[in-house]
Amino acid sequence: MAWAWPHGLPPWRSVAILSGWAGTGLLLASLILMVRTPGVTARLGGIATLYRWHHLSGSLAYLLLLIHPLALAINGLDESPLVAWQTLSPADQTWPEWLGWLALLLLMAGLAGSFGPRLAYRPWRALHWALAGGVVLGLAHLYALLGNAVPVLLVIAACTVSLVWRLLISDLGLQAAPYQVESIAHCADRSIELTLVPCARALSAKPGQFVLAAFSDGPHFHACGEFHPFTLSAIEERGRLRIAIKALGRCTRRLQELEAGVLVRLQGPFGEAAAPTIQPRLWIAGGIGITPFMAILRNETGGPPTSLIHLFRSPGEAPFLEELKARSGQDGFDYRPVATGDCVPDLAALLDTITDLPARAAHLCGPPALVDSAHTALLARGVPPGAIHSDRFDFR
Ligand SMILES: Cc1cc2nc3c(=O)[nH]c(=O)nc-3n(C[C@H](O)[C@H](O)[C@H](O)COP(=O)(O)OP(=O)(O)OC[C@H]3O[C@@H](n4cnc5c(N)ncnc54)[C@H](O)[C@@H]3O)c2cc1C
Repeated sequence: MAWAWPHGLPPWRSVAILSGWAGTGLLLASLILMVRTPGVTARLGGIATLYRWHHLSGSLAYLLLLIHPLALAINGLDESPLVAWQTLSPADQTWPEWLGWLALLLLMAGLAGSFGPRLAYRPWRALHWALAGGVVLGLAHLYALLGNAVPVLLVIAACTVSLVWRLLISDLGLQAAPYQVESIAHCADRSIELTLVPCARALSAKPGQFVLAAFSDGPHFHACGEFHPFTLSAIEERGRLRIAIKALGRCTRRLQELEAGVLVRLQGPFGEAAAPTIQPRLWIAGGIGITPFMAILRNETGGPPTSLIHLFRSPGEAPFLEELKARSGQDGFDYRPVATGDCVPDLAALLDTITDLPARAAHLCGPPALVDSAHTALLARGVPPGAIHSDRFDFR
């Protein structure tokens, strides 16, 4: 913006120039924020914070870039309405402007996918890639109009590095750590728990964190090859990790057929590690949302008094039910399994049975609807917002 600062230009033309550059800068920030390397992600406050800033900067960038052509048209109004219209109408323009319009349309499609009605994951992802297309066309628009100016080349280089980095490192997982599936156990209906052994360097993970895992094909198993997030359910000696996977969709259904010996690539760890505390704890888990609590329980000895409310449809669908029942009563651990059937759980009644609720550190994990309603119910019962930690199994 400093480089392009308008001197002696009409006000609306100045607005157009500045909004174009501010939008470009924010778009670049949004791209850099989606480069998901574990170290940087942790230093910037975790993946959820990073994604929030990524969404915010991307949306602001779009609004500013929308102002850019409108301000140019308003500037044209000084001459005549026809000039204003010609500034906007693609019919009166050439390639550099068409590139700009196409870029805006793709950005609009991508943002509609993010903020419109909730889409299934794969269409949402395709629309999100439209945003990347919008960025490339926007850069081409910039280059076509301003040529080889140093700031233009810097912005193009930074955007290209971010996009290529994201594609190669995060989406294709070129830096992912190779592991092998050592054993597979059924931990509930439609759920398995895998033990993974490192083939080379082991990830340095802590209870509460998750990894992105992509499985390879086995002799009789055909993987879907994509990276999917799974919370660690145990961290063992010599870098062994365990993850539990519930069949929730296309990929996770296929994973139920997994065979020992299959290779798996892991990225991470991501997410906040469970902080040690002496405060009494309340954990609320929905179904497979039990995984972070399993990792904490399996990795700690003599933690503070902890009540765990575990909600599931039926006992057959409750992962780790027997192990949790066996641990209940030991070291101040109080396990409360609740089979809800197809009904919405009565959270208010369940919370009313917990003593000293406002003094507890609460940790919620599971489907977004459960996490949101438990969060609201806890706030209403005097638990301070800072004492509630939530893991949602649906980040985008
Ligand atoms: C932080 C986090 C931790 C999780 N931990 C566990 C766990 O320990 N055990 C477990 O069984 N499940 C866990 N999940 C959920 C698991 O990732 C999804 O069930 C799985 O990705 C679904 O993929 P699918 O193709 O089978 O289903 P689909 O039908 O394609 O997707 C179902 C839903 O899963 C989510 N999803 C799908 N693909 C991805 C992806 N590549 N990245 C992010 N989300 C995706 C989307 O919200 C989608 O709407 C976790 C999710 C998150 C975000």
